[in-house]
Formats: sequence, structure tokens, C-alpha cells
Amino acid sequence: MSSIANHSRKIAIIGSGIAGLSTAAFLHQDGNDVTVFEGFETPSPIGAGLLLQPTGLAVLAMLGLDEEIISLGSRIDQLYGRAIHSSRTVLDVEYGDFKEGLFGVGTHRGTLFSALYQLALNSGIAIRTGIQIQSIDSDHVVSEQGDQIGPYDLIIDASGSNSTLRDQYADVAINRQYPFGALWSTVVLPDTQFKSNLLDQRYRNAYNMVGILPVGTLDHQNRAAFFWSIENCKYENWRSQELELWKKDVLEVWPETEDIVSQFNKHKDLTFATYRDVRLRKVYAGHTVFIGDAAHCTSPQLGQGANLALVDAMILSKYLRGFDNLEEGLKQYAQARKSHVRFYQIASQWLTPFFQSHSWFFSKARFFTCDLMCHIKPARFIAAQVLSGTKTGVFGTLNPGDWSKKYDCR
Ligand SMILES: Cc1cc2nc3c(=O)[nH]c(=O)nc-3n(C[C@H](O)[C@H](O)[C@H](O)COP(=O)(O)OP(=O)(O)OC[C@H]3O[C@@H](n4cnc5c(N)ncnc54)[C@H](O)[C@@H]3O)c2cc1C
Repeated sequence: MSSIANHSRKIAIIGSGIAGLSTAAFLHQDGNDVTVFEGFETPSPIGAGLLLQPTGLAVLAMLGLDEEIISLGSRIDQLYGRAIHSSRTVLDVEYGDFKEGLFGVGTHRGTLFSALYQLALNSGIAIRTGIQIQSIDSDHVVSEQGDQIGPYDLIIDASGSNSTLRDQYADVAINRQYPFGALWSTVVLPDTQFKSNLLDQRYRNAYNMVGILPVGTLDHQNRAAFFWSIENCKYENWRSQELELWKKDVLEVWPETEDIVSQFNKHKDLTFATYRDVRLRKVYAGHTVFIGDAAHCTSPQLGQGANLALVDAMILSKYLRGFDNLEEGLKQYAQARKSHVRFYQIASQWLTPFFQSHSWFFSKARFFTCDLMCHIKPARFIAAQVLSGTKTGVFGTLNPGDWSKKYDCR
């Protein structure tokens, strides 16, 4: 496979999220003529925090953005979680158990979005905002107003978990919503009780979870993403109940969060997010390819979605660069991404009921799996390897050090 683009392609990317913007940057670098279409007039990130893994950081390094994201974010060395009442440890994973010096980064979504958006603007990539793409007509994209825009050699659907284009054009194997979602907010992190290098969680059985993910400095203050797990069908009820009642409930699960919970004055201070499990039999159809959440949405238990999207972007550009024949490039791309994506889809799906369900069995089973994980060295190694985003199967791994030496995991 040659490493230089043999010819420039005209490419439309639908969606200016993490997948869309990073793909635009790579394809533009390769000399393609790229246009990004975004439904919102003013593109902005939705949600609070993200945990970036060594895989995602290695891709950001290739775009020259990792140092900026690390310096503005919070280095995360460990994920820890404890059950209330029993005080037993349920989650304890340290990146260092996989490789010394390895870490993740807690970042505010806005920080990552701004870095990618600014890169796209500075590179001169065309970003057309306020255009909701409704359909694809052969080699044209069609806006909500019925405008046909094109022709394009390639159309990339990066329109996220609720992609309507995927539902129209992809061969979808699974597309279902998880019964639990989360309430999210960005809060000021009190220095006293919370460590800046720890994603910390507390659980009431498997149906309540409170989490704090430090996300670095914003407006000169240390910040964190706060999240509270909630069943989707209970969201309306939560909105209509007094906020103070809910705050009491949170404090029952985790009393030390008082200085955080006191920052919420109205329901609108929190954002409700739902998750989907989306799997495609084939990630391309004709001259359209699906990437990021549009192709493989997962629950966020393993903190991988944005990282998978970044890896998609880099690998897609590699195969488009390497093959003059578009169909062959897309076929090779699909093959190259299959095992990595599949592993995290299945692992996230399996893990979800342990943390977000009504199951008594799963809430108790966590203790045994955690005991195993905490006390057996090879189990700690594997757990950290999974977290770092490098698994491609039970025995298979990839090494982000192949993309950027700084994130070598050998
Ligand atoms: C609560 C929660 C917590 C998470 N935590 C983590 C984490 O810790 N680590 C991690 O790696 N991942 C995490 N994720 C997952 C991560 O947020 C997603 O995987 C990632 O944002 C996917 O990026 P994307 O670019 O594919 O989609 P998105 O970021 O959703 O971007 C899609 C873009 O497309 C635009 N768009 C949609 N439809 C159209 C259209 N028809 N025409 C034009 N534009 C359109 C949208 O406006 C949007 O800008 C979390 C997700 C949730 C919900």
C-alpha cells in the first residue's frame, strides 16, 4: 500500500463531531477536497466530560493536538468505584498495571471539540453549518430543504448515534436504546476530597451510580464531569420532582459530594444523555461509509466511543490514501476496523448490566469479578489493557505506539 494519495477525491462529511472533524483533518492533509456539513448553525459539543484513552491520544498526536488536550485536561491514572452500605470495592483499574507511565485524560468535551474545530478552520476545511442532511441521492447529499449538493466521490456519515442516514442506507444488525442513561453536568471540583487523577464512582446496587471524572481547568477553575445514572423511563419523573429530593438521594449514595451537589440549582443544570447499542453488518454501502457513533454506538461504561471514532478517522484516511479504487479502500478499511470495534461493542454490552440495571445478580456478581480483578496480577493487567482501548479480541491487541511512539504499549 503506498503512503501517498494518488489522486484527490471530493468528499462530503456529515457531522462535525469528533469523528467528522478528525476525519476531515486527516483527509485534508492527504490532499482531498473535503466539505463538512453540520446541522447546527453554531456547532458545539453536547455533554460534559470524556475519558480519552492511549489509543485516542495517539491519534490526536498524529494531528498535533495531544499535548494541548493533556495540558488542558486531567491526567487519569485510575478508575475506582465502591458500593455504599457494604463499602466494598467494585471497580479498581490502574493504567500502570498494563504499562508503567500509561494514562488516560479526562477532558471537557468543549476542549476536544474546540481543538479539532480550530484545526479544521486553520487548515481551510470548508465547514457548512446549519445544513441538516436528510438523504443521499447517488453521489449527492440532500439537505432538509431539498437542495442537492455534490457530486462527491465519497460521502462519510459521521452524524452520531442517532444518524437517520444510517437507518436509511446501512445494513443495520442492531440498533437499540439502553434502558439506562445518565444526567451529566460540568462542576467545579472541590480540591479537598477528590483526587485529580482518579475517575471515582459510588454505587447503590446496580441501579444508582454517581461518578466524578476530573476534566482539567476551565475558566481558571478545576472542573469535573459529574454523572448520575438514571433509567430513561424515570427521566420525566425526575424533571417533575423537586430537585432537593434528588440531591438528598445523591448524598445518600455519596455524602462527600455535598460541595458538588450544592452547585445544582435547577434541573436545567444537568443534561440527560441516552445511549444506544448500534452494530452494522457492513460499514459502507456504495460510496457512503459510516464512522464513529453512526457506525458503532456503545454504552460509555468503558469510555471508548470517542477513542473508537478517532481511530476510525485515522484508519479510514490510511486506506483511502492507499487505494486508488474506492471500493477496495473501503473494503480494506472495514476489515481493518472490524475486530477492534467488535471487541469494545461486546465488552461494553456485557459490562452495562453490572453498572446500570435492576439486577440483584449483577450487583452481587460485581464483587466476585472485582475480587478477582483486584487481587490477581494478570487480571489487573488485562483489565487495564481493556481500559486503554488496545484490545482487538480475547488474545488480540493493537499498539497505539505504531501511530505515535509516545503512546507505546509494548
Ligand atoms: C453520557 C456519555 C458519556 C460518554 N463518555 C465517553 C467517554 O468517557 N469516553 C469516550 O471515548 N466516549 C464517551 N462517550 C461516547 C462519545 O461521546 C461518542 O462516542 C462520540 O462523541 C462520537 O462522536 P461522533 O463524532 O461519532 O458523534 P457526535 O459527537 O454525536 O457528532 C455528530 C454530529 O453530527 C451532527 N449531525 C447529526 N445529524 C446530522 C445531519 N443529518 N446533518 C448534519 N449534521 C448532523 C450533530 O449535530 C453532531 O455535531 C460518551 C457518550 C455519552 C452519551
